[in-house]
Amino acid sequence: MNPSHTASWGILNRRDFPRLLDALRTQGYRIIGPTLQDGAVKWGDIATVDDFPVGWRDHQSPGHYRLERTESFRYFDIVHGAESFKPLTFAPRETLLVLERTHKTFVATPILPDPEPLAVLGVRACDLAGLAIQDRIFLHGPYADPYYRARRDRLFIIAVQCTRALDTCFCASMGTGPQATAGFDLALIEGDADFVVQTGSEEGARLAQHLSLHPVPPERLRQEEIRMAACAASQTRSIDQSALPRALYDAHDHERWDDVARRCLACTNCTMVCPTCFCHGVEEQPDLMWTRSERARVWDSCFTPDHGYIHGKNLRPTIKDRYRMWLTHKLAAWIDQFGMSGCVGCGRCLTWCPVGIDLTEEIKELIRSRQASGS
Ligand code: SF4
Ligand code: SF4
Repeated sequence: MNPSHTASWGILNRRDFPRLLDALRTQGYRIIGPTLQDGAVKWGDIATVDDFPVGWRDHQSPGHYRLERTESFRYFDIVHGAESFKPLTFAPRETLLVLERTHKTFVATPILPDPEPLAVLGVRACDLAGLAIQDRIFLHGPYADPYYRARRDRLFIIAVQCTRALDTCFCASMGTGPQATAGFDLALIEGDADFVVQTGSEEGARLAQHLSLHPVPPERLRQEEIRMAACAASQTRSIDQSALPRALYDAHDHERWDDVARRCLACTNCTMVCPTCFCHGVEEQPDLMWTRSERARVWDSCFTPDHGYIHGKNLRPTIKDRYRMWLTHKLAAWIDQFGMSGCVGCGRCLTWCPVGIDLTEEIKELIRSRQASGS
């Protein structure tokens, strides 16, 4: 929510939900939301309400993802898929500039994206927290990235509050969810017969005027708070943030890194699905005549063998080095670097790790043995 905006709430009847899509389209937005694709849920175009994965629910646990049929008619019963918000603002691959050789010199032409206005419907609290971290990295540092900004500035974000946690969720312990409190234009809580709609920005308030909202009884808002609190309480995983960053800095030589290195495949899945990982490389693609070259930015991962290769030496030659680097940066050095944790507790790295490595268990073990040693 924009801090200067005064939130208001209203009720949208289920039968009026298509009005939201109509209003967004009238404002010129392309709409995307959760859709079923290839046996999983991915961001996809929403033309009508039939494009939502109605009658499906997700089950996730370390190394496990399944969709299950239900009798429910709700649009947002699936919590989230492998894709976070990240690919919508930080493209997995994009051309940054084109270099063209002319007489004895060359010309560099930046290729800035010109995206259409995009409304994203169904964003969860953890992904809004991930987006805020990406904003900090790409927009609020000494250099604002124009490629990221071009996409970011055209977004209209509609959050959906979580009232069901997955086995892999631990956002409550990271202070990022399950209730979205900032970073959206509108937020919805889905009930059986209707939606509670909250405005989070002036743009959101303007759009809400087209929705024929009804007043919300205060008792209903209290009930929804209770539902979200119950969702937080149902989370079985957590990270004890009070022990960080020290527990990781003190664990540099801990034997647990050997144990996790025996299990980790260095497949990079955890970094690809993570909403906050921002490592990337730059690739040069010259034509056969070496007269023209495209320079592209491509997602990279600290788990690849050459990510740690710097000037003739690989600083992280083993999987043990790479996993330790990833976890220590994510949960410790990130705090020193950006003043916040690099983990928002979405649980995707647990689900999409093919061998089910669970960072909450790895951290727990490091904290436990630190406490046992009395430090
Ligand atoms: S480290 Fe894992 S749980 Fe934390 S934000 Fe990244 S993917 Fe989500
Ligand atoms: S997803 Fe799992 S196996 Fe793959 S690099 Fe990450 S921790 Fe290792």
